[in-house]
Amino acid sequence: MVLAELGGSISRALQQMINATVVDEKVLNDCLNEISRALLQSDVQFSLVRDMQINVKKNVNLSDLAAGQNKRKIIQQAVFDQLCQMLQDPSGKPDQLVPKKGKKPGQVVMFVGLQGSGKTTTCTKYAYYHKNKGWKPALVCADTFRAGAFDQLKQNAAKAKVPFYGSYTETDPVKIAVEGVERFKNDQSNSFDLIIVDTSGRHKQEAALFEEMRQLSEAISPDLVVFVMDASIGQSAFHQAQAFKQSVAVGAVIVAKMDGHAKGGGTLSAVAATKSPVIFIGTGEHTDQLEAFDVKPFVRRLLGMGDLPGLANKIREAVLMDQHEDILENILQGGFTIRTMQVLFQTKLKLGTPSQLASMLPAECTSRLFPAGLGDDQENQSQMKQFLVMMDSMTAQELDSPNLKVSELRRQRIARGSGHEVRQVEELIEACKAVSKNFSKGRALLRSLNSGDMRA
Ligand code: GDP
Repeated sequence: MVLAELGGSISRALQQMINATVVDEKVLNDCLNEISRALLQSDVQFSLVRDMQINVKKNVNLSDLAAGQNKRKIIQQAVFDQLCQMLQDPSGKPDQLVPKKGKKPGQVVMFVGLQGSGKTTTCTKYAYYHKNKGWKPALVCADTFRAGAFDQLKQNAAKAKVPFYGSYTETDPVKIAVEGVERFKNDQSNSFDLIIVDTSGRHKQEAALFEEMRQLSEAISPDLVVFVMDASIGQSAFHQAQAFKQSVAVGAVIVAKMDGHAKGGGTLSAVAATKSPVIFIGTGEHTDQLEAFDVKPFVRRLLGMGDLPGLANKIREAVLMDQHEDILENILQGGFTIRTMQVLFQTKLKLGTPSQLASMLPAECTSRLFPAGLGDDQENQSQMKQFLVMMDSMTAQELDSPNLKVSELRRQRIARGSGHEVRQVEELIEACKAVSKNFSKGRALLRSLNSGDMRA
């Protein structure tokens, strides 16, 4: 079951409970059984699912609820909290786990994971992400096992303009890692503050790999060990993550390939096995396709509730990247208009694929924007293009209308001008209205964009 399906199944189970005439033990049990089935089909460990059931029932405690209390809302909240709990930083001490800028010079982050998990790609993404946040990262290739790892990391590092250390000839990974870390730590003129070490993987879990990881970790004393897992590994996630945790002090998890048809459950299981938080997810092969992981927006997206704060942040990033501060200002002044949507679509490449964009919107908006469903990105891409063509035939007044009012005559003109049917123009306006409605706290929400990161 892919992540979107898992979210859909949980949402449907909750909806059935909400629609029930009376919410009693049976309705609650049916709802929880349905959710458990979906989680198990998504490869979440049985014990985690069982705990989720027990905790929701304990927290809701139907028999103790006074008449008049909104049982539906309480159950919904309890399920949401439990899903967040499953993904939350189990150590409760994220500050000690993630490198903190300025904490000390030359912090070392060691990446571990099986071959093909996405480790090497993720190392560069991680370096690039931090470079854009003002860090001075450097990359060390201590993967002497996979032929090609050296060239791959070297090329990626060059593209990301991050200094790189590695050796074609040296076969001892510990020696390379120690030399690389020392070199960057002692480079007085550059003061690197984040040294990222890529390590070898193997096709499967084997003693030699874990022994190598142990030796490496002992030699370079990393400030953080990141376990990289492929989002699609399913049931084996728990044992794989646990095996790494037993040989090195895994402190954080990065889930690569979340853009594919990945099962989501492995993520939950890896968190449980390593007792470490997911800090990033990989959402594509490109260097900038790494997203900081936030539990609540993730679960909101999972349940089709959308992630408007995250989306607003994305718009801000995209707009600022294009240096269109004037457009941002317009958005801030005018709330959500068709032009906002135009900016959103125009910057879609930076926002990710249509389904990534859509997953940040509440389900009721997505069905209007992308009637083909979220699975078909090609179809959705062409839908976005058609919307953009129609927008090109709109006047500034129509694009900037704060209440998205476009008269019948104007709709006909836009349809003629863009070579579409009036029905399609109406679909566009209705889709914008649906999104606008969900930006109901629009101005306040968008205004707070200027005050930095607003993910709650
Ligand atoms: P390693 O053997 O663990 O170092 O894995 P690589 O970094 O070489 O990645 C294996 C494959 O997965 C490569 O083709 C990468 O381009 C691809 N890959 C890595 N991360 C992602 C991701 O987040 N999304 C997608 N779609 N592909 C990824």
